[in-house]
Amino acid sequence: MADVQMGEAETFAFQAEINQLLSLIINTFYSNKEIFLRELISNSSDALDKIRFESLTDKSKLDAQPELFIRIVPDKVNKTLSIIDSGIGMTKADLVNNLGTIARSGTKEFMEALQAGADVSMIGQFGVGFYSAYLVAEKVIVTTKHNDDEQYIWESQAGGSFTVTRDVSGEQLGRGTKITLFLKEDQLEYLEERRIKDLVKKHSEFISYPIYLWTEKTTEKEISDDEEEETKKEEEGDVEEVDEDKDKKSKKKKIKEVSHEWQLINKQKPIWLRKPEEITKEEYAAFYKSLTNDWEEHLAVKHFSVEGQLEFKAILFVPKRAPFDLFDTRKKMNNIKLYVRRVFIMDNCEELIPEYLGFVKGVVDSDDLPLNISRETLQQNKILKVIRKNLVKKCIEMFNEIAENKEDYTKFYEAFSKNLKLGIHEDSQNRAKLADLLRYHSTKSGDELTSLKDYVTRMKEGQKDIYYITGESRKAVENSPFLERLKKRGYEVLYMVDAIDEYAVGQLKEYDGKKLVSATKEGLKLDDETEEEKKAKEEKKKSFENLCKTMKDILGDRVEKVVVSDRIVDSPCCLVTGEYGWTANMERIMKAQALRDSSMSSYMSSKKTMEINPDNGIMEELRKRAEADKNDKSVKDLVLLLFETALLTSGFSLDDPNTFAARIHRMLKLGLSIEEEETAGDDDDMPALEEDAAEESKMEEVD
Ligand code: ADP
Repeated sequence: MADVQMGEAETFAFQAEINQLLSLIINTFYSNKEIFLRELISNSSDALDKIRFESLTDKSKLDAQPELFIRIVPDKVNKTLSIIDSGIGMTKADLVNNLGTIARSGTKEFMEALQAGADVSMIGQFGVGFYSAYLVAEKVIVTTKHNDDEQYIWESQAGGSFTVTRDVSGEQLGRGTKITLFLKEDQLEYLEERRIKDLVKKHSEFISYPIYLWTEKTTEKEISDDEEEETKKEEEGDVEEVDEDKDKKSKKKKIKEVSHEWQLINKQKPIWLRKPEEITKEEYAAFYKSLTNDWEEHLAVKHFSVEGQLEFKAILFVPKRAPFDLFDTRKKMNNIKLYVRRVFIMDNCEELIPEYLGFVKGVVDSDDLPLNISRETLQQNKILKVIRKNLVKKCIEMFNEIAENKEDYTKFYEAFSKNLKLGIHEDSQNRAKLADLLRYHSTKSGDELTSLKDYVTRMKEGQKDIYYITGESRKAVENSPFLERLKKRGYEVLYMVDAIDEYAVGQLKEYDGKKLVSATKEGLKLDDETEEEKKAKEEKKKSFENLCKTMKDILGDRVEKVVVSDRIVDSPCCLVTGEYGWTANMERIMKAQALRDSSMSSYMSSKKTMEINPDNGIMEELRKRAEADKNDKSVKDLVLLLFETALLTSGFSLDDPNTFAARIHRMLKLGLSIEEEETAGDDDDMPALEEDAAEESKMEEVD
């Protein structure tokens, strides 16, 4: 670059995280340095995609350089390797922002992954692939020209800063980017033709733009002395007529001629045009990796074509794991590349696949869409709607295929079950099919997960509904009082412990004609009793009616009503929520969502019903006391304590844990027979109990 006249250089500091990343790349030993080429070619390919897309609606965008290509130039004399593309290029602002001052969200994640032992080849997934150039280069120069700006040069040897300079008189690119790597002394292998060709074949075979390598060719040529003379003269511009007779007589001589040419080194024949049965697993894997920058192979693939009224070909992949930013709402996830008759159109076409399938990667090549389709017209496009419907169908087919292998499905489910549940919530058309893919732990599944289908095969005779319980964790729901009667009857209960389960099951409502019934909501009816049992129960219920009334009076607005329960066996009581309101779990989730709409929350927040267990000793004793004296203070305290305890065991949170603790402490004192007088001093520190703390002395009556 020494011979190039330049404008004034401006110096910029690398953003702190990028600077750290660069040091890590430069100072840590990675054996897999070769991936830098794949990353730079992939950036070039993206840049070409961008200009091609712009040109679909405005042809003049290509004027400055009509040809779309990637060129690789090894220069053994200067020990540089250049990657040149005629892509969209970068404006000065792009250069400053993209290559140094604004860190991608993945920068930190990538460093953490590296430090945790991840391979450097993962770099592309984190959106910082450019910096892999420093695996092999000690200095990098980026020359770039965007249609909207002048040509600029970015230059850095890492070390904290880079410069940007207006390129006044360098070789003009027209449009695009040239990245020149000044290779480290021990990385000169990347100047060898053979090595570059192999690398392109290995990592970049499926790039859909031609990749040319500047190759050197040495040919031996027989020429005569005269001819030699002739060429010399021609070069000097001194052209003479040639005497043919003289030519024949002259002596022949061999010389070595070095010539250069652009050699096309990738095939570019799209793999999706080939027949699936002729493609090996390795080829799919190579294509998947080049498409996604993933360092691991795919978990599953579906290659198909749709013919008839509408024609398209597609390959869909499921990755082995979720990306680090799967549910990052700032980023619209869509990983299907759209092609129209082999021409790349765009790679984030939201209309192509629903959001919940955003983790599926692949390509779609349509024969029917117009080439100059714009984002605006895409939304209305009927062809696209049909394609989308087919893609969803094929995705579900593919998931079912994964489910045939238990180990694979476990992996898949761990990574993407949230997406399936989101699908249940959003995609009413495919809800039933998606429900088949759900798996849960249950009261009977042990360590395994069970499908709804398997649940149904285990349903007891006479069992009409599918029971589930939602909660924060498996541990929290396993011993819930709500499960008691169901378990006792041998009914299986599914544990739904994912926040999103609550939403999904709210939409699913039934499976295979069987209602999904929450064990924690009101209206849980278990009707398999004999007449006698029913009668005995009715009587018992009656005897508890007064207690229910008294309890409701004491609890006031805290509960909607107090009723005798059908569902609990051991615990004295539990709190259930209305059939249409939020469950305790939902209330917890909503409380955690800072931005929830408060009007919605007061409306939906659980209207609690207290259910009491008439067979429980505590309840029986309480009934007796309440009957003896309605205004017994100990009854009041006990009822409040029972309510607060039930809040906890039913999965709600306590609004005022201090009052609860004070009540418990007093019970402890009673249990330990500590005299009130001795503890009188402590009472001042205790929060007042309901209304009249002064009447505490009556607590003695409790035991
Ligand atoms: P990623 O490509 O994953 O976004 P990189 O670190 O590889 O991350 O590149 C950062 C950004 O720099 C790119 O998003 C792109 O805007 C710009 N860039 C890199 N290489 C090129 C190129 N050859 N042509 C145009 N822009 C480029």
